[in-house]
Amino acid sequence: MTNNWFRTVLNRLFLLVLLCLPVGLLLDQLAWTLVVGLALYIGWTLRQMLRLHHWLRTQPDGPPPEARGSWAEIFNNIHQMQRREARRNAKLQAIIERIQASTAALNDAVVMIDYEGHLEWWNHAAEKLLGLRAPADGGQHVTNLIRDPLFVEYFEKASFKEPLDIPSPIDMKICLQYTITRYGRGDRLMIARDVTRLHNLEQMRKDFVANVSHELRTPLTVVVGYLETMLDAEESLSPRWIRALRQMQQQATRMHSLLNDLLLLARLETTDSTSDDESIAVSQMLSRIRQDAITLSAERSHRITLTSETERYLRGIEGELHSAFSNLVFNAVKYTPDQGDIRIRWWEDQQGAHLSVSDNGAGIAPEHLNRLTERFYRVDSSRSTHTGGTGLGLAIVKHVLMRHQGRLEITSTPGKGSCFTCHFPTQRLTSEAYQAPGE
Ligand code: ADP
Repeated sequence: MTNNWFRTVLNRLFLLVLLCLPVGLLLDQLAWTLVVGLALYIGWTLRQMLRLHHWLRTQPDGPPPEARGSWAEIFNNIHQMQRREARRNAKLQAIIERIQASTAALNDAVVMIDYEGHLEWWNHAAEKLLGLRAPADGGQHVTNLIRDPLFVEYFEKASFKEPLDIPSPIDMKICLQYTITRYGRGDRLMIARDVTRLHNLEQMRKDFVANVSHELRTPLTVVVGYLETMLDAEESLSPRWIRALRQMQQQATRMHSLLNDLLLLARLETTDSTSDDESIAVSQMLSRIRQDAITLSAERSHRITLTSETERYLRGIEGELHSAFSNLVFNAVKYTPDQGDIRIRWWEDQQGAHLSVSDNGAGIAPEHLNRLTERFYRVDSSRSTHTGGTGLGLAIVKHVLMRHQGRLEITSTPGKGSCFTCHFPTQRLTSEAYQAPGE
């Protein structure tokens, strides 16, 4: 095509020169005739260019201007390109409309947010669930419209691995789960699902567990009390009864700790974490826990050492941290053979504050490590039952740490021992002693 077009142009020029030749020779002004001929050709070309420019500027979608020869070919090619483009655009538009129609029909709110955080597009459900108004809210920053501090923190932290569950900005009774995905050049697709039903069910489950645990505590206290009274009069009982009563007392005590742990877990799940923060002298707390561990170990004679390398305070809730730390230390006592070594270390570095409890006990096989913090997960249920464990200890530790922006790291080598480390961020450390009001 290009070659043909070029040949046509050359042919035309050649024809022009051929035409100018006899006229130039006749007038004896060959050079001037050629100049005039070429000037005419340039003038004609300029005129075609102006027509092209005018067409493209005024009505590019209309038919091309009438032309002949090489310019006709140029006009036609451009016109065809435009029609192809228009067809492609129409196809794309149809696809976009179909996608928009299908997302509009979704029950979940879908919101497209640009790389700066401004709203670009949203579906009908977003208007119902998030209260967005079209077109007024278009171009607004998302945090101007969803102002919940938890959402603002989630959006600004820009780590969207976990979804966020918070009440809807227009109705506190609706619980929404936000998930955000990045695409393109930092743009974000936000999906908000109504999880009110799931949330209510979850709440019912938590309330049920808490209520049952609470209700069971009173009858159990009565049973334990009577068992104690009966065992006080041991001399009047036959050895068979004494054995039975002792076992009953042991199991009742286990049930008591189980109920206490269940209640603690329920409280950790249902209450707000940030309200009662105070400064906790961790090294003092650890030395008390060490004393309790020595008492628990008793004749099993573990060597329990404590190294505190920082005297700075940790901001948090004392009761919860005490439960978490003592769970780790008591587990080490429970799962380390007699005379074993248990080392407690509390230190601080650039990453934050850390507490590790390591032992040289039986250790844990790698396949169990990820599941240890699940409720009632036990590596060896017979050993745990024997040690009086509830199976909730590490679940409590995990929850407490989460409420203190911390995390639990578990490393273990079977046959050599285990190390449980709690990591806290630097902003949790403070040099000032502070007690929550009302203490
Ligand atoms: P439990 O009440 O059964 O101790 P936990 O949640 O505290 O429940 O611990 C879960 C399981 O993790 C335990 O059953 C035990 O098998 C294992 N475990 C915990 N700490 C240690 C440890 N220091 N050494 C070996 N195993 C441990």
